[in-house]
Amino acid sequence: MMPPRTLVATTVFWEIFSLILFCASSALAQSQAANEMPSVTQVPPEAQASSHFDAVAATNAYLAQIPADKTARSDAYFEGGYWMILWDFLYGVAVALLLLNLRWSARMRDLADRVTRFKPVHTFMYWLQYLVLTTILVFPLTVYEDYFREHKYGLATQTFGPWMVDQMKALAVNLVLFGVLAMLLFGVVRRVPRTWWIWGSGVTILFAVFFILIEPVYIVPIFNKVTRLDDPKIVDPILSLARANGIPAKDVYTIDASRQTTRMSANVSGFAHTMRITLNDNLLRRGSPEEIQAVMGHEMGHYVLNHNYKGVMFFSIIAVVFFVYLQWGLDWTLHRWGAKWQILSVGDTAVLPLVVLLVSILGFIITPVLNTYIRTQEYEADMYGLNAARQPDGAAQGAIHLGEYRKMNPGPVEEWIFFDHPSGRNRIYAAMRWKAENLKLFAPQGSAAVLSTNADKK
Ligand SMILES: [Zn+2]
Repeated sequence: MMPPRTLVATTVFWEIFSLILFCASSALAQSQAANEMPSVTQVPPEAQASSHFDAVAATNAYLAQIPADKTARSDAYFEGGYWMILWDFLYGVAVALLLLNLRWSARMRDLADRVTRFKPVHTFMYWLQYLVLTTILVFPLTVYEDYFREHKYGLATQTFGPWMVDQMKALAVNLVLFGVLAMLLFGVVRRVPRTWWIWGSGVTILFAVFFILIEPVYIVPIFNKVTRLDDPKIVDPILSLARANGIPAKDVYTIDASRQTTRMSANVSGFAHTMRITLNDNLLRRGSPEEIQAVMGHEMGHYVLNHNYKGVMFFSIIAVVFFVYLQWGLDWTLHRWGAKWQILSVGDTAVLPLVVLLVSILGFIITPVLNTYIRTQEYEADMYGLNAARQPDGAAQGAIHLGEYRKMNPGPVEEWIFFDHPSGRNRIYAAMRWKAENLKLFAPQGSAAVLSTNADKK
């Protein structure tokens, strides 16, 4: 989905602000290498196939290759993210309460009333005002979290200007997409005031499926350039792996993620034959062939294990839960404070900040459940990927690279609450456990234990 916080800026405000930020960000600019995890070109001795191979010792040997300062940095970034979840939540609650208690929401509805009484357009006019106002109110947090904090940890590559342009694009996309969703949902509430929560869930689920379908083709290219990869040295092994696993991919794509970030990643998107495999350019640039194979095996796991369809099923359940809760929550709150906030009913567009408030409360509470659902699928994809690609050392390297923005070695409760992927230690351990059971695939020592360097790849 789009970044939730977008922004808009009026001219004078924007001029002054961007000048200040530009100066500040230049001062912050630093070499990205400061953040980079090591690229392991040699499998550590403890992780090489031998008669005394031990998965735990192999895992520790991989972890020992990460310098202490990199670990400290990555931990600080990721743990800071725990607090950001809390600040985002509290800030969002404060904004919603402001809009309700100062009756700004009611005023925006009255203003939309003056433009038109035609309900769908009225809803859109309200949405336009709401989005612009909340974007401005949340802007200080957005700029800290998405710009300064990312630069501080060497994860962002954009200067302030292009970052702002992306924010404006995201604002436009949110305006249209969620404007349509708002028109549909308020239409449903007005048409079927008793059973709106059932039909509302249905509309939301269909909207999510529609979004998944259009995202790779129509939304992603707004922000990044997607190109078809044609280097046979990279594409051929990936397509071979795909064929071996019954995956109908004909092409492999790459995306210029380095425009915004140093993060390495890949993904599988779409359904059935709209399905496509995309590697980001950071992975292509820094990943060894073994690592790329391991990552591709993981991504293919998502496809073969039908994680997309299961994800839609899971989202559907969550959507129904949210709508039942909303029906009850809106009833309860409007009964008490509806008159004070000048909100007439659930079908009144001025109710939107209250909807956002209630949704964010439940969303905040169930964050660990959502994380655990996703993390479980990621673990399944890891298991599939190890069996498919047979690159446990490539997988270990991948886990280390991802440690640039994800804590490597958390406690079990911490992992359960905050991690939407298995931790680096768990991923390396799973890879080494797989290797321990498949030692016959690896030469006891020597050539097979050497991972190619980046120089080899080119
Ligand atoms: Zn995954």
